[in-house]
Amino acid sequence: MTNGNGSHPTTPICDTNDPRFVSTVGKLFEIWALCPRDACRRARECRGDNNECVRTYLPLVPEAARMWLPAMFWWREQGATFDEALAKIENSEPGKAFAAWHETVKAMRRKGR
Ligand SMILES: [Zn+2]
Repeated sequence: MTNGNGSHPTTPICDTNDPRFVSTVGKLFEIWALCPRDACRRARECRGDNNECVRTYLPLVPEAARMWLPAMFWWREQGATFDEALAKIENSEPGKAFAAWHETVKAMRRKGR
């Protein structure tokens, strides 16, 4: 998938058909907090048909924050554990954008969404 102007590839998130992977991505980015389905928000996990709602709402996550995922993959490929990778990414641009995204989600939830 390209973003239309061909400048760079987007993250592979929306291209996968593995429902478990999509679900994990949904949890990592707290997509359930954006989801209008009560069941998802109660479960703190998107449970719509075939991850439909994760796929629908994922584009609301800023691209800089979504770049956290390929960064995570890269570190995992280097043999880092999840926690080690988190620590490595933390101070990078994707790490900061990812943290900022979680702050945004928190603020939205405080507003009673
Ligand atoms: Zn949902």
